[in-house]
Amino acid sequence: MKKPIILLIGVMIFCILLPILISVLFYGENEIPSSDSKNKIIQKSEKDAYETVDVTSPTVSVYNSTTNKIEKIDIETFLYGVVATEMSSDFSEEALKAQAVAARTYIIYKMENNMTQGHRGAYICTNSNHCQAYASYDELKKIRGDNWIKESYPKIKKAVDDTKGHILTYEGKAILPMYFSTSSGMTENSKEVFSAQYPYLKSVSSPYEEQSPKYYTEVKFNKSNFIDLLKKNYSNISISSENLYNQVKILDRTTAGSVNTIQVGNKEVTGRNMRSIFGLNSSNFKIEFNGDTVVFKVKGYGHGVGMSQWGAEGMAQKNYKYDEILFHYYTNTEIKDIY
Ligand SMILES: [Zn+2]
Repeated sequence: MKKPIILLIGVMIFCILLPILISVLFYGENEIPSSDSKNKIIQKSEKDAYETVDVTSPTVSVYNSTTNKIEKIDIETFLYGVVATEMSSDFSEEALKAQAVAARTYIIYKMENNMTQGHRGAYICTNSNHCQAYASYDELKKIRGDNWIKESYPKIKKAVDDTKGHILTYEGKAILPMYFSTSSGMTENSKEVFSAQYPYLKSVSSPYEEQSPKYYTEVKFNKSNFIDLLKKNYSNISISSENLYNQVKILDRTTAGSVNTIQVGNKEVTGRNMRSIFGLNSSNFKIEFNGDTVVFKVKGYGHGVGMSQWGAEGMAQKNYKYDEILFHYYTNTEIKDIY
């Protein structure tokens, strides 16, 4: 009689212990965050906690690069025209808000530092290669049409209005909020690209870029075109089509992978100059030689410093808020409400 009881108790103990044993064995696996985890980019979000003052926005003197005239425009109204031209209205609301804060910060940075170079005394211009792109409401209506004004303009306006007066600061001062289209998966240190050290423009990961149409591009030249373009820019360069492969060598790259210097023939050329000579989207490239063809395989679009716009859109689609996006790309910055 004793044996079945012992057996029964044994089975009961086993049944109780088995789930405990399993949970202990597999405990560690639950601790590994998924690669998609939000914790990879850790920044606190204080959405809507930035509003401290609410006064009428100031005006800024704008040098209109098209008309060559200086106009005084209300900053927030001016920003509608900047955000509308610097970022696609198809982008998510939080990406547009991040863009609005960056664009506003750029204007305040110029004002705070009394920077009027190239503007005939105005703080900002409408040339996208110098400051930021801009189009007035009437110009947008003319270029994009009534439907865009009806469907998309309110989205741009909302992104600006929702962040009214918010700028990015570092140690209490407006930052230089550089931004660009698409990164290679990592942004650049300002020091490595512009030789200027800004503590908030540091290389960071930018993982959600793949949907950018300019994430990866290829540019092809035939050997003789490739050599001609180099000779046009460097009259005393010594390079020949024979054994071209052995005369071109990437010497070093930045932290984010852009070409720093490259040996071409007897010359050492910077990656940035190569980008400009061959019209590449960025200086993050590889070169391949296929018979008579030279192929540039290029990652990203733009200088790579600061906020990636497509990266910001990628983050917005992963439910990051505009402040989280900004704090990710601009290291150790804060949002300050100035009006
Ligand atoms: Zn300018």
